[in-house]
Order: sequence, then structure tokens, then C-alpha cells
Amino acid sequence: MDSITLGEVMLAMFDWVASHKATKAATADVWSMLRAVCPPGTSPGTYAMAEMILQRHLCDSVVTIPVCRHDCIAYFNFQSTAFHHMQYADLDACPVCCKSRYVTLKGRKIDAKVMYWFPSARYWEFLFSDKEIVPYLYNDLCPSTSPLGSVRGSNGYYRKVLLNPRMNSDPRHQAVILSTDGMPYFKDIQCRSGWPVLMRSAMLPDGLWNSQAYTHMLAFQASDYLDEDPTTGIAHRVKRYDDHVALDAITR
Ligand SMILES: [Zn+2]
Repeated sequence: MDSITLGEVMLAMFDWVASHKATKAATADVWSMLRAVCPPGTSPGTYAMAEMILQRHLCDSVVTIPVCRHDCIAYFNFQSTAFHHMQYADLDACPVCCKSRYVTLKGRKIDAKVMYWFPSARYWEFLFSDKEIVPYLYNDLCPSTSPLGSVRGSNGYYRKVLLNPRMNSDPRHQAVILSTDGMPYFKDIQCRSGWPVLMRSAMLPDGLWNSQAYTHMLAFQASDYLDEDPTTGIAHRVKRYDDHVALDAITR
């Protein structure tokens, strides 16, 4: 049997912590039990150390973007020419639903909702640094050489990628496949949920383009948001599900 690595044990621990919504105190306790059973020379360190590594990694790889609590807009200044009219970073209220960007929680003004963006540069660095993969990443291949049933052999790929003049202006341009679906954060599905946006390069060969190991999480958006009680002014978390039920009740 293959032996399990310390890194795999730590990942399994983080998975357990996230899926069971373990408190920090409970996690630190289980972490110290893990340290006690690890063979000499393979200690995972303290939980505080592991948490610090995660925080450093997040500082470097995550961009937090405030969004309208009803998901109308992102408070962000879009860079590309096509979206140049969308300059929302400095607004205090949503131009679509007029709701305030902020709520007051425990005396502090905070964003009612945020989304997390994980820039894809590292993903492309990872793909383009692999000598065996690089030859596949060029978009000048003939679809007839791709096996039947593969993305690269499909009609959609031929039309959207191979015949696309913008794609053809540089052989390094990448076609990507984006997908999203709602998922609960924890094992208890009544708890909070969100929408991960997953991205894969459509240029990858069969067996890799649909592999989880070659998928990048591009963004994550929670389903819920903070809202203020109109009478007390106290902020509370509203689940989108409850919101829809409430709207449904109003419209009936
Ligand atoms: Zn809005």
C-alpha cells in the first residue's frame, strides 16, 4: 500500500475542519492529537503555525471584492475596454436596486456581501511550466486529429475556438470552460452555501481537461448576505433561500 504523506494528512484535516464547521478551539485540540500520533520527524507543527501559513497564502492569492447584497453589481472598476463603463469601486449604494453597500455590525460599517476572486495567473504558470503539456496549449491544432467525443474534436470547439479570429491572433490564447453550481459549505446542508466558479483550459488533452487536478477555482460567491432589521437597525445574515421564500410570499 502507498504510504500517506504528511501533506495529505494535513489536507484531510483541513477538509474535516471545513466540512464539520469545527471551532478554532476544537481544531487546535484535534491538531495536537494529530501531532502526538505522527512519527518522529514528521510533525505537522501547531495549528497556529498551519493557520499562519494559510493566511499568508490567502494574502497572496485571493482578492476580496464587495458586491451588491442582491448580486446586481460588483463594487469594482472593470479594466477591459468592453466593460469600461462599469466603474463601481467607489459607489456607496447599488445603482440597480439602490440598497446600501454597507451594513453596521457591532458598531462597525462593513460590506453587506463580498465575493472572492482567485486570479488565474498561477494556474497558467503551472500549465505553461510543464514541458509535456505546453505543446497542447497552442490553439493551432487540426480538430480531425482529436479523438471522437473529445472537446477538441467537437463542433463547438471548432466554431468557438478554431474559427475565432481573436483566438487566432496569437497561438498562446486559451479557450476556457467555466462552470458553477451551488454547494453547501458544510456537511449540514441547512447551513450556509455558495457558488464556486471553476475554470479549466479547453486546450488540455483528453484525460486532463476534465480532471479536477487541472481545474482552477476562479471565484467564490456566498449565497447569503448581511441585512439590517428596519426597526432595530441590527445586521443579521439572510440566506438567499429565505429571501426567495419571503419574496414569493409577498408576490402571492
Ligand atoms: Zn443591487
